[in-house]
Amino acid sequence: MESNSPIFIVMLGVPGAGKGTQAQRLEEKLGLKQVSTGDIFRDNLRNQTPLGQLAKSYMDKGELVPDDVTIRMVEERLSRPDCAKGAIMDGFPRTLAQADAFDKMLRGKGQKVALVPLIGVTDDEVMDRLTGRRVCRRCQGVFHLMFNPPPPAGECPQGDKSLCDIYQRDDDKPETVRNRLFVYYKQTAPLIGYYFAHGLLAEINGAQAIDKVTSDLWDVLDKAMA
Ligand SMILES: [Zn+2]
Repeated sequence: MESNSPIFIVMLGVPGAGKGTQAQRLEEKLGLKQVSTGDIFRDNLRNQTPLGQLAKSYMDKGELVPDDVTIRMVEERLSRPDCAKGAIMDGFPRTLAQADAFDKMLRGKGQKVALVPLIGVTDDEVMDRLTGRRVCRRCQGVFHLMFNPPPPAGECPQGDKSLCDIYQRDDDKPETVRNRLFVYYKQTAPLIGYYFAHGLLAEINGAQAIDKVTSDLWDVLDKAMA
């Protein structure tokens, strides 16, 4: 790979695998912009861009934003100067149609996806990670039943002698998490086969400590860029 052609990395993994965290770390190490679809949507909606308004018209009806609208937002985002060296895609492509369109978009510019790291964790692990999350209404603290338990006596780390008011967000309830997994398996998991067939997939054990996941990720990137 030519060192001066933009590098595009697509992060794959179930929700809760740690894609966002690892993408952020890669951003710092590689100097490539982390491009998250969530951020792109929020930007377009906030700035009421024509694409944002179009997306909103679907969302207001409770409909999914069509792939072509999402793709045009991504294309616009990637055309900005901070993506001149490439980007780490986090949350896009999410469907086979988006992956094909992304391929086509890059090919049109003589570019392509460089590597697709798959942060692999088991479904049970994801259920534990996501359903164990607890938040405090008072101090906005984020805790985890296993990894970062809420203060035992309920005392708020805020230090104002008030007690933490711990609850589980609807997003973290088992039925919601299972539904997110279902959507992932239905829409996004086929991308694993798609990118494997393109010779771009690099599976990483995401059940390890965060730093070890990062160093494994760094190793496969090194190999891919060599
Ligand atoms: Zn608290």
